[in-house]
Amino acid sequence: MQMYVAGEWTSAAVQDEIRSPWSGETVDTVPRATVGDVEAALAAAVQGAATMRRLSAYDRSEILNRAADLIDDACDDLARTICAEEGKPLSEAVGEARRGPALFRLAASEGARMHGETLPLDAAPGGEDKLGFTLRQPCGVVVAISPFNYPLLLVAHKLAPALAAGNAVILKPASQTPLTALKLTELLLEAGLPPLALQTICGRGAELGDALCSDERVRKISFTGSAEVGRRIARVAGLKKLSLELGANCPVAVLPDADLEQVAEATASGGYVNAGQVCISVQRVLVDRDAYGDFLDALRPKVESIAVGDPLDDGTQLAALVSEREAERVDETIKRAVEAGATLVTGGARQRGVVQPTVVADVPDESELWREELFGPAVAVRPVSGIDEAIALANDTQYGLGAGVFTRDVNHALRFAREVDAGNVHVNSTPLWRADLMPYGGLKGSGMGKEGPRYAIEEMTELKSVVFHGIER
Ligand code: NAP
Repeated sequence: MQMYVAGEWTSAAVQDEIRSPWSGETVDTVPRATVGDVEAALAAAVQGAATMRRLSAYDRSEILNRAADLIDDACDDLARTICAEEGKPLSEAVGEARRGPALFRLAASEGARMHGETLPLDAAPGGEDKLGFTLRQPCGVVVAISPFNYPLLLVAHKLAPALAAGNAVILKPASQTPLTALKLTELLLEAGLPPLALQTICGRGAELGDALCSDERVRKISFTGSAEVGRRIARVAGLKKLSLELGANCPVAVLPDADLEQVAEATASGGYVNAGQVCISVQRVLVDRDAYGDFLDALRPKVESIAVGDPLDDGTQLAALVSEREAERVDETIKRAVEAGATLVTGGARQRGVVQPTVVADVPDESELWREELFGPAVAVRPVSGIDEAIALANDTQYGLGAGVFTRDVNHALRFAREVDAGNVHVNSTPLWRADLMPYGGLKGSGMGKEGPRYAIEEMTELKSVVFHGIER
């Protein structure tokens, strides 16, 4: 495929191969953009932003609704593309693709409801003869940088609100998964998006990132990815609006009155969807001592029954990680936790890019598996003594994206919701649940800003105050 810059589908001197994480076969090739392409994209985006700013909210919502219809029609192809480039089971890829149309429609309707408010200026000293109101206007040029793990959904969570709000976007998808983003770009153009309103450039973030993120023509950066890259973007960005959706290490607390079969079922899904490569994946399970043994007994057979195999086969629930190197990293992290004293309950084996679904018990505090983000198919379990320790351990992390508690006790549920510092707290569910309309984003080291079209539109627009002054005669 080609990339889309300055209104043209273009190539580059160097091509990168996109390989299937499962089979290693080449799926397609894409151009590798240079810093020169970034400059062309920035110059075109400035013109695109001027065009978008003049489009009415009605026209923008018509384009996005047409794009939603086209995405609907293309769902099968998009799902196969996601599966081929990212490696997740086709059934999960279908689920991801099917969320696209509704997300675009939601953004279209939120964009059509962007409005300000009147200001009661006569309540301010000297404000009697004034009339004031607020106006929301687009930021202008938005840079959107997305990770590999949800090649459609996380791109859509940036493009749809940015365009609904009247911005131009420069999209830099992850190097491993640019194909779905390029197909979405085609569909948006077919839906009538002005040609300069979107630039989709392929290539290496490490080579292009600084040029994209430091440029003063860019007013807003919306980034989803690792904490390390997020911190770098924050350093180079200068005076810009930033949304940073970063890593996580999500805890789930299991109190003694929880239904252990239900929790085990939820954990066997919440820790292993997309081979654990989800920012809201369950990583740490804090189980009340009285329920600890029974919980492990309930969890083990459920995790062992996860069907591992070819992502295209019906029934496959877990396939390869995004690369063999990632699988090695995850495997080594698990092994180091066991060497440090943890107990392997099940799994712990790797074959090329596939890490068997793993459960590790009694994981020590200082091990990486407990402290850092794993982003792989393993869950760490530890006993706790009551709600106080569960809350303390849930908070004992640099991250704060998602958390869950299983209990029937409403007081414990409320305390957990109030006292755990996570952007999304779930009661009687794992954090691996998201409605696309929710405000979604992390606290602490998990970043800043919220996605979800209504909230993303707020972050991708500027609020102006307008004051009419009475003229004294
Ligand atoms: P990543 O390595 O940080 O890459 C994310 C994106 O940043 C890619 O497009 C990457 O390009 C680009 N990039 C790399 N270096 C850059 C630089 N110096 N400047 C600007 N951009 C740069 O993350 P990933 O491995 O793709 O994704 C996994 C991470 O994403 C995990 O930490 C996960 O928790 C996080 N995540 C968070 C959320 C959330 O909502 N909080 C959701 C999903 C994922 P290349 O691909 O070319 O390197």
